[in-house]
Amino acid sequence: MKKVIVSGIQPTGEMHIGNYLGAVKNWVDLQNDAQYDRFFFIPDWHSMTIDYEPATKQRLIKNLVRDLLALGIDPKKSTLFVQSHIPEHLELCWNFLTVTPMSELEKMTQFKDKAAKHVENVNVGLFTYPVLMAADILMYKSMIVPAGEDQVQHVELARVIAKKFNNKFGTTFPEPKAMLTEVPRVMSLTESNKKMSKSGGDKSCVFVADSPDIIATKIRKAVTDEQGVQNLLELVKLFDVSTLTYAHLKKDFDAGALKNVELKDTLAELIAAAFADFRNRKEEISDAEVAAVLETGRARARAIAQQTMEEVRIKTGLR
Ligand code: ADP
Repeated sequence: MKKVIVSGIQPTGEMHIGNYLGAVKNWVDLQNDAQYDRFFFIPDWHSMTIDYEPATKQRLIKNLVRDLLALGIDPKKSTLFVQSHIPEHLELCWNFLTVTPMSELEKMTQFKDKAAKHVENVNVGLFTYPVLMAADILMYKSMIVPAGEDQVQHVELARVIAKKFNNKFGTTFPEPKAMLTEVPRVMSLTESNKKMSKSGGDKSCVFVADSPDIIATKIRKAVTDEQGVQNLLELVKLFDVSTLTYAHLKKDFDAGALKNVELKDTLAELIAAAFADFRNRKEEISDAEVAAVLETGRARARAIAQQTMEEVRIKTGLR
């Protein structure tokens, strides 16, 4: 039997290089491994937990799908869908809410961080977010969740929830584990000790779709305190396929002779080159193609979700 992989990316803004290096690149790489069955989705319900402009949401979702396709997600190899197209996720979430101790959710550091950042909108959805995420993962009986470091605690909670449900109602779900890349945490350009995040603002992120000019402008403005320089050098290492450029800059850095402007201009060029093909491919993806891909993904995901929910309804005594 194939091992199931599930992972998602929120439609809250442009995809940045942290999302790419921490998650999406891994998704693309995992596509060529026949031992896996892959589900990638856009958690639009999750994205409602932070204030947003409803009129922009459809554009953000379609844009993200185009990004994923242009970066190499192949709908023939992976099931790509939008969370809210599968209503069963919410039904499973309800089941899980009834087995999740409050105290487990109170431990979640992402909730604490987001609640501190959005004091004017600390909603219950934000609090229960990891339970919906457990439903997203376990619906497809996934054991592997390729994600960034910030999601590890949530995946551990999904294990707790799977165990509690299985103990109470009989074995139904596997206990999933996070799969990290070698770059689980890409740092912000403007605050060198924080992770790069869509919610950190445009200047703190390099977006995969940024033009070479914008990439250069953003990188030139990046902070260069001690940690900041380390972060930029680390990015050079990640984007330098030849490894020669990195070796050269690192040698200068170790000798105390590396000029920030050289570091920044080199990095900007490397990133712009890394996404040149992507930018061209993205241009060619039409709205019709996006709609067709999402419809295929919806049909496949829904069929499985319906099966899982039928099993859950019987096990919980509701049928
Ligand atoms: P964001 O935090 O930018 O809103 P999402 O919550 O949509 O991003 O996360 C999508 C994926 O990208 C998740 O697997 C997450 O762990 C990963 N990710 C997000 N930010 C980073 C980062 N700075 N470094 C590495 N991975 C990241």
